[in-house]
Amino acid sequence: MPHRSTRLLRVGFWRPAIEAEGIPWSATQRWRLSGGVHPFALLPCPPQGLLHPSRPPSHIQRTAAEFDRAIRCTLETIVGGPVSHWSWLKASLPCSRGGLNLRSVLRHSPAAFLVSTSVTKSLVLQILASPPDPSPHITPTVSRLATEAARPDWKCLDDIDVPLWQKCLSHVVDEACFQQLLDSAPTCRSRALALSSSLPHAGDWLNIIPSTTLGLHLHDREFQCCLRYWLGVPLHSSSYPCPECHLTADAYGDHQVGCGGDRDRISRHNAVCDAIHAAAQSAALAPSKETPGLLPGSPGRHFQSMLEPWTSDRL
Ligand SMILES: [Zn+2]
Repeated sequence: MPHRSTRLLRVGFWRPAIEAEGIPWSATQRWRLSGGVHPFALLPCPPQGLLHPSRPPSHIQRTAAEFDRAIRCTLETIVGGPVSHWSWLKASLPCSRGGLNLRSVLRHSPAAFLVSTSVTKSLVLQILASPPDPSPHITPTVSRLATEAARPDWKCLDDIDVPLWQKCLSHVVDEACFQQLLDSAPTCRSRALALSSSLPHAGDWLNIIPSTTLGLHLHDREFQCCLRYWLGVPLHSSSYPCPECHLTADAYGDHQVGCGGDRDRISRHNAVCDAIHAAAQSAALAPSKETPGLLPGSPGRHFQSMLEPWTSDRL
């Protein structure tokens, strides 16, 4: 498990590949993450790694592959073992699609190049005072983008029917990647995991700032377990008898999530209610605890935590 002194990107690992592409080493310094980083620091990294979007993807292919490989190695270090191709594909999706936002540079570099070319067109025209010769890299790059976006109808720039913005093109690529994830799910469980982890707000836990003061943090070991569960990486080498309820616990952690042994289910329920109550208190919503009247005619059933002014779906 990496600790805070880990150099996440192991920059030296791919320096030769960077220099072989003719990219100045100094230009890569912004990617360097060293000392004092939490695994969360990995997450916003790849979008910055689109590697000189002004260069055609075919010119940076080897470097992009090395970069992706370095990110995958780092992820495997964090989760404590190898991740399958399917889990890596899942990790490369945005958090809102059940991934880790570790977008593949190889997959997104065609979009980056086309957007860069498009937004600088007027500036180039201004500088040259006459239209430059059409770039020979545009058509092959559109073809690569069409493959990544699963849009075979995109043959030239004019065929692209979404705005030429990085966000829009990357969204189409991400959706194609998500469909590929569903289609290649090795088991029904994998498919269910992909679908459930892409539900609205399911990935919110990855977007919060880990704050010890606010209680919004996970210890390294907890974070590792959550990542393995999120990516469908087994937490155990095989199934085993649950020490709490003596039923069979699976290797992927599904049993532990719902195990009711040793009052775990009640403890989890109370912990969630307490967290909601504390959050409502800190927002000055005057929540009340154990208020009777949860069910009509059942005075013994209490609200765990109730917000008085709550009506319908708003305060
Ligand atoms: Zn159990």
